[in-house]
Amino acid sequence: MRVYNFSAGPSVLPEEVLTEVQSEMLDYHGSGMSVTEMSHRGKWFSEIAASAEQGLRDLLNIGDDYHVIFVQGGASTQFEAVPLNLLGKNNKADYVVTGNFAKKAFKEAGKYGDIRLAASSEEAKFTYIPKLTAKDFRQDAEYVHITSNNTIFGTHYTKLPDTGGIKLVADMSSDILSKEIDVHDYAVIYAGAQKNIAPAGVTIVIARKDIVDNDQSLPYCPTMLKWATQAKEHSLYNTPPCFSIYVADLVFKYLKKIGGVKAMAKLDEEKAAMLYDYIDNSKLFHNYVAKEDRSVMNVPFVTGNLDLDAKFVKEAEAAGLVSLKGHKLVGGMRASIYNAMPVDGVRKLIEFMKKFERENA
Ligand SMILES: *Cc1c(COP(=O)(O)O)cnc(C)c1O
Repeated sequence: MRVYNFSAGPSVLPEEVLTEVQSEMLDYHGSGMSVTEMSHRGKWFSEIAASAEQGLRDLLNIGDDYHVIFVQGGASTQFEAVPLNLLGKNNKADYVVTGNFAKKAFKEAGKYGDIRLAASSEEAKFTYIPKLTAKDFRQDAEYVHITSNNTIFGTHYTKLPDTGGIKLVADMSSDILSKEIDVHDYAVIYAGAQKNIAPAGVTIVIARKDIVDNDQSLPYCPTMLKWATQAKEHSLYNTPPCFSIYVADLVFKYLKKIGGVKAMAKLDEEKAAMLYDYIDNSKLFHNYVAKEDRSVMNVPFVTGNLDLDAKFVKEAEAAGLVSLKGHKLVGGMRASIYNAMPVDGVRKLIEFMKKFERENA
């Protein structure tokens, strides 16, 4: 039996895509083998890789002025790849720290250059997004790094910081494809796939061509981490995470079929609004995030009583609503309601919360 899986990542995938993967597992399109078994340089996989890249380009309206590459190592490897690829000309970058992953990115970058903490919301346990203007950044910084959605703390940017023209780099691991964006607002976007796109293993990098092609990487940037290497070889410099790219391609096709990012964003907004609305009217559950900065993807909530929180997680699991335990840094509960979480899953969760509230009032 399938459960409703609220895991923060790896997370739920569209059932339709999983069924398709299952049906193609033994014999992909008459090849007589599964995608996991075939050469990454053969005809079958070449088509999949090209289709995945085009699919993402179509969904996010990415033009010819950007490279789209598929790499390994997770978003965490990009915490290092970003400074390694960008700090060769001017060794300065500014970071906005709005959560644990943002903090890790800031810390890794510190190994490679003059990295400044432009702003942080840590003093308030990352419950809000600092509102920043151009004067908060060094105007000679090479780039400003942000984390668009904070997976653990449940906040997101509703408006991008005004950097005064400095290049913006964003970790979009937990909200890519959940809302329409203008890629031109960013110099670089990166995202691990395991939240909104595919099984863990592939990471997406969308980077402005002029930056990548006019190499501004640090001289000791490892070949494998250099975006130019992967761009030149169309993500096939070495063996790519074939299976994850294949599933990503299917997810992109699925998203297109249901109306693209615009339709997905509407559904995501509806799901989040339903859940926050119930929590705000509940006497038992609370969400401590600044209302205007609340994430549409990750919804943390608490009862204020540790035993009751544990009871909730246990009983929810027995009711088929799994992985609701909050991150250890926050405690309580967290419902990750990514793209692939059906509206019905959120309805079931709310019904369960209502019942739990009545029984434990
Ligand atoms: C999950 C996550 C990461 C870490 O991703 P890995 O692929 O495990 O390295 C980084 N940033 C954000 C915003 C995330 O949600």
